[in-house]
Formats: sequence, C-alpha cells, structure tokens
Amino acid sequence: MDRIVILGAAESGVGAAVLAKKKGFEVFVSDMGKIKPHYKQMLDERQIPWEEGQHTENLILNAKEIIKSPGIPDKAPMIQKVRAAGIPIISEIEFAGRYTNSKMVCITGSNGKTTTTSLIYHIFKNAGYDVGLAGNIGNSLALQVAEDPHAIYVIELSSFQLDNMYDFRANIAVLLNITPDHLDRYDFKMQNYTDSKMRIIRNQTKDDAFVFWNDDPIIAQELKKYHIESRLCPFSILKKQGMIGYIADGEYVIEKPTPFNMEQEALSLTGKHNLYNSLAAGITADLSGISNEQIRKSLSDFKGVEHRLERVCDVRGVHFVNDSKATNVDACWYALDSMKTPVILILGGLDKGNDYEAIRDLVRQKCRGLVFLGVDNRKLHEFFDPIGIPTAEVRSMRDCVNECYRMAQPGDTVLLSPCCASFDLFKNMEDRGEQFKEFVRAL
Ligand code: ADP
Repeated sequence: MDRIVILGAAESGVGAAVLAKKKGFEVFVSDMGKIKPHYKQMLDERQIPWEEGQHTENLILNAKEIIKSPGIPDKAPMIQKVRAAGIPIISEIEFAGRYTNSKMVCITGSNGKTTTTSLIYHIFKNAGYDVGLAGNIGNSLALQVAEDPHAIYVIELSSFQLDNMYDFRANIAVLLNITPDHLDRYDFKMQNYTDSKMRIIRNQTKDDAFVFWNDDPIIAQELKKYHIESRLCPFSILKKQGMIGYIADGEYVIEKPTPFNMEQEALSLTGKHNLYNSLAAGITADLSGISNEQIRKSLSDFKGVEHRLERVCDVRGVHFVNDSKATNVDACWYALDSMKTPVILILGGLDKGNDYEAIRDLVRQKCRGLVFLGVDNRKLHEFFDPIGIPTAEVRSMRDCVNECYRMAQPGDTVLLSPCCASFDLFKNMEDRGEQFKEFVRAL
C-alpha cells in the first residue's frame, strides 16, 4: 500500500487525508501546530493516525507522496528535507482532481477571488445546478470528492495552491488580476508570483475556456509567452474589439456565446473592482449555458461577502465601512477609488513588502485623516507623513475606532482597508473586521 503523508491538518489537509484513506492509501497526518478538536475527531473517526506540535521525520520521509497545506512555506525546514529526499509534493486540489471528472471552474487573481468565486457559486446554485464551493472557502475539494460529490466545483485558488498543482485541469479558468502580494513567499520576485498565478491555465485544452481581465498589464505581458489552446474570453470595463464582456453606456454586456445585457445600476455589487468581478462571473455563467434570466437575477440579488467593502452602519452621520480583507495595496486602491465622501483611512498591520506609491494620490485627494493600526508603524509614517494629512497611531481596535470617530466629520466615511495582514494584533483578518464592527456598533 502506498504511503501518503499530509503536512498541515486544517481544512485542506484533513480533507486530503479523508480522501486518501478512502482511496486505500496508508495515510499519516502531521502538523507542527495544534490541530483543532473538530479535525482531530474527523481523523479519529476514520482511523487516520496523526501527530501535532512536531514533524517526526521517519514517519514523513518514508512517504511516496506528500500533500502540503497551502499555508506551509517552501522554506519550512521539513519541506526542505522532503525536497532533499526527492519526495513529490502536491497540493490538496491536485490530489482531489485525480479522483473526479466533474467540471472545474477555478478562480484566481491577487484580489477578488473570494467575491468572484462566491458570486459564481451563487449564480450556479440559484440556477439549480449541483455545485460545490471549494478551495479557500467552504469545505475542501478533497472532502467533497470523498464524501459529498458534486457535478460542478467552483474553486478559489490561491497562488500557494497553484504552486503545487501539475496535472490538474480547469475547465473554466478565471484570472482576475495580478498585482504584488505575498512576495515574502516568492523570494520578493514578482515574476515568481506571476508564474504561480499563470499555472491556472496549465493543461487546458481547446474544450476549455480562459476568462481574464484584458487590461491587466502583467497578464497582457504574460499571455505573449504562452501558447493557449483554450477559448480566450477577455473582459474589460471599456468596449473594445475582441472583448467578450464589457461596460458600455451604463450597460453590462456579454457578447458571446449567448448575448446578454443588463443595466449596470442593477448589479448588486458596487465599486469599479466589482464590475470586473461581475463580468468574470457573468461570462463564466454564460459559457456554462445558464439562462440570461438566471444570470440577471443572481447578479442583482447577490449579497456580497463579509469584510469586503462591507457597510457596517452610520453613527451620527459618519459612515463606517469594513474592508478588513484588503491585505494589499491594490485592494485598498479600489476601496478608496469607490469612496464618494472624505475618508478617514485605517492602515497598518503586517506589511508583506508593500509599495504605497499606488495609493499616494488617492490618499491625498480623498483622505481627511489616517489612523495607523499596527505594532510597527514606522514605514507608514515615513511614507504618508510628508503628505501632510493628520495621522494618529493606535494599537487596539477600540482606540482605533474612537480615534477615527474623533477625526471624522458628519458625512465622512471611516474605511478599514489596511493594505496589510492582521497577524500582529489580531488572530486573522476576520477577527480584525469583527472587532471593528463591534466597536463601531458600540459607539
Ligand atoms: P481575495 O479572495 O482574492 O483576497 P476578495 O474578494 O476577498 O479577494 O477581496 C479582497 C479585497 O480586494 C477586498 O478588499 C476587496 O474589496 C478587494 N477587491 C475585490 N475584488 C477586486 C478586484 N477585482 N480588484 C481589486 N481589488 C478587489
């Protein structure tokens, strides 16, 4: 019996273990940290051995193949040893892909993955399709393939998942954009990160489709390097030759395969970035044969996703918006771009190698005040202080919300769109967003 070892026992790792066991492999799961009780129970119920708080080498380096959780960096000592031993490392999605012939709709990009994935899922689900949501959201693909199979999977893929995918094939691949992110995991080389994103089209054939944002300069550059067999479906917010989807005179338009249009005003998601996301989702649905009526309905009744430009409430005329998921500069750019009032902007956290130049002008035009929420705010001060806007520094969400409220005037928007990861002061970006909402509601 071949031995498969899974490193990392969270959603993807445990799902992979369940599937591997079901397929008759000898399975072992190892996690350097603590495994959540719910996952331990899942493993125990299926008699899958596991360890936590350590990686025991002789139980790992005897594997035929290793499935690595996307959160574990290549630099981790155990990964280096696995590589040195010549054991192949794959991702959970690659593994699960071997055991299903279902239709795969895969979404990647630096920003907009969760929103677009959720919107595509919403359209398919509303149209009555047997569809599963997987990848970074919902249950892992492997778990669904093992125990709750679907005819179609809509999968959000991060660059870390794509890194260890080789034979997997997306029937519809959606590439939203490529802007700098996670560079700390890519030797601070943008090309490495870009190569990872482009893996979304690997193995596609002429029967597949590739939906992408036409105006992204990096994607445009990359496309010259590849011979792509799949059907090309570019979109833009401007009507241009060759575009499958675009916005023209306030109309949202899809040209092919089935012509579709609706009023831009009727789209439920707002902001320029969400026009891209809505175009990508609509084209995907149209390619899949979903009726115009269904697409129109779902694009206009989608509720959006928490922590993404989420309106919290108004307090004495001050609007509060939670965009805690904006963990890079590009996401913040779109948030600021969509603001129609003066802004008090909350920035800060763990900086993944940010260059704030891209938001300098928007900050100057739109912000009345900046509040830096992080353990180390030196880089923010260095960059933004010369602009001459009032700034404040805080180290807890309670102080942050109070400070923002003090700076704001009625009619202003307080925007949490921090450009940074949250782990210096919060458990994760959800914790940051939830604390924000809690203190805002208590004002
Ligand atoms: P991801 O899953 O790729 O991180 P999300 O949908 O969770 O994407 O959104 C992350 C952040 O990026 C949010 O702040 C959101 O407002 C912003 N955003 C969403 N879609 C886009 C897009 N197409 N381009 C740029 N920023 C976007």
